[in-house]
Amino acid sequence: MAVICCETGLLMRKAASPSKKPKASATQSIGRCACGKVVLEIDVPARWAWHDHSAASQRAQGCAYATFVGSYRSRFRILKGQDNIRRFKDPATGGTRSFCGDCGTPLVYERLRAPEMVNIPRALFETRTGREPRYHLSLKEAPDWAYRGEQLAPLKGFPGVMWERPKRKKRKLFDEEF
Ligand SMILES: [Zn+2]
Repeated sequence: MAVICCETGLLMRKAASPSKKPKASATQSIGRCACGKVVLEIDVPARWAWHDHSAASQRAQGCAYATFVGSYRSRFRILKGQDNIRRFKDPATGGTRSFCGDCGTPLVYERLRAPEMVNIPRALFETRTGREPRYHLSLKEAPDWAYRGEQLAPLKGFPGVMWERPKRKKRKLFDEEF
């Protein structure tokens, strides 16, 4: 992966900000893994942002769908924790995924179809990335258990827990059992 080590990344930033070179973005958005050992940044605005409903990303990230921010590699840097990053080739897509070796947070998804881009989970960033996630990929692979804005009500006796009242599902279950 064409990532820049911590030291080089910092040097690049130092060199870029005081000079008048037009390449450098004035703003960066910083992301970090759950344990904080890996810190990365992208130049803002990102290229795009998208929701990935594919089964491959559901499994790799342990979620109903993953929201990614896509950035050109040249606008992406690892600031800290390069040695903590583990990578694997996803047999489902042929792309490469990386994650923090200590806490397991997914970090970068490199897709075969767009090798000039890196895709970083939106959730890693604390500040705005300059793009709203308006695009949905692989929607047909979305699981039937994903939350899709169904009406919710407070669950009695469990403060903070909302639930979806069973409707047709109940009858279906009944039919399956008998
Ligand atoms: Zn970590």
